[in-house]
Amino acid sequence: MKTRSVLEGVSPYNPPRLREEISVDYGSDEYVKLTMNELSFGPLPEARAAIVETLSRAGRYPDRDATPLREAIAQANPGLAAENVVVGNGSSETLVDLMQILDRPGEVVIPWPSFPFYVSAARVVGLDTKKVPLDDHHRADLDAMLAAVTDRTRAVILCNPNNPSGTYLPLAEVRRFAGALPEHVLLILDEAYYDFVDDPLYSGSHELVLASENVVSTRTFSKVHGLAGFRVGYGLVPERLAGLVWSTHVPFSVNQSGQAAARASMGQPEAIAERSRLMKRERERVQEAFGAAGLDYVPSHTNFVMVGAKPSLFEKTGVLVREGEALGYPVGWSRVTIGGPEENDRLLAALG
Ligand SMILES: *Cc1c(COP(=O)(O)O)cnc(C)c1O
Repeated sequence: MKTRSVLEGVSPYNPPRLREEISVDYGSDEYVKLTMNELSFGPLPEARAAIVETLSRAGRYPDRDATPLREAIAQANPGLAAENVVVGNGSSETLVDLMQILDRPGEVVIPWPSFPFYVSAARVVGLDTKKVPLDDHHRADLDAMLAAVTDRTRAVILCNPNNPSGTYLPLAEVRRFAGALPEHVLLILDEAYYDFVDDPLYSGSHELVLASENVVSTRTFSKVHGLAGFRVGYGLVPERLAGLVWSTHVPFSVNQSGQAAARASMGQPEAIAERSRLMKRERERVQEAFGAAGLDYVPSHTNFVMVGAKPSLFEKTGVLVREGEALGYPVGWSRVTIGGPEENDRLLAALG
């Protein structure tokens, strides 16, 4: 059978090491998992109730257009209408849907280190990627990214805040960058960690979506909403592009429990804001402890921290973290997800 040679060696997800591969014998099966930037608390009670309520309708297909969810998302982003919102089976699917609308052959410019999925997704849809190194402060280097754009460039992805460095760029810088990009290039802002940034000068990318033809933003219910297992994400897109994105989209990919849970969770903005405040306090506590222990770390604006320590350090107290080299950082670095207070206590016990 003749298959596409470009698929050889493509791995859309390189999973964290298994427990069995861990060198340190902690002597218990109860490991704390801080490898995947999930929220330790899971869905809000209102989202759990909404999930249960959908079970009686599980024999029916979900709302293909996810209209009530899209309306709720539009309302949370003043000026946007439901027509500007596309949903996906996690924002990963929305990213693929967006790449599908780009002309080929061509390439996608990305910062590096960043989200490895960009590379495999681009390759699967037939696009190359061009990696532009982060600057000395571990932030996306916008001047260098702009300089990397050519006639072959179809899109630039800005992961903001960036996974795995945890750094962000304020809206004014993103706006200037969007204005400087040629109109034939799509700017994709991946804002999976939107809710964890403290700076009021960060938020508001929906204004750029409204004001331009070529800027989109993607967000997810997998992080602060604690719904990673239900797979719901979305994109904010100019209306002309929305029709194209829907044309590439697998119908019914967002299941009805996920739609209902996401809507219910959005209906509790104060509870979500409280979770995000707790995660930020815990992040500060973890970073202070890293500093006091003499460890190098990148100050984070997300629910994870990149730290200059090997995973084996934390395995001593039964905590699993992500090895930096799997994410483009050197050996000797780890990405540590901020857990709940007791999980973070276990993490920090390894320092003492
Ligand atoms: C977690 C994450 C996502 C979200 O993925 P989902 O498919 O929505 O679960 C997207 N981008 C980045 C950079 C992430 O870290």
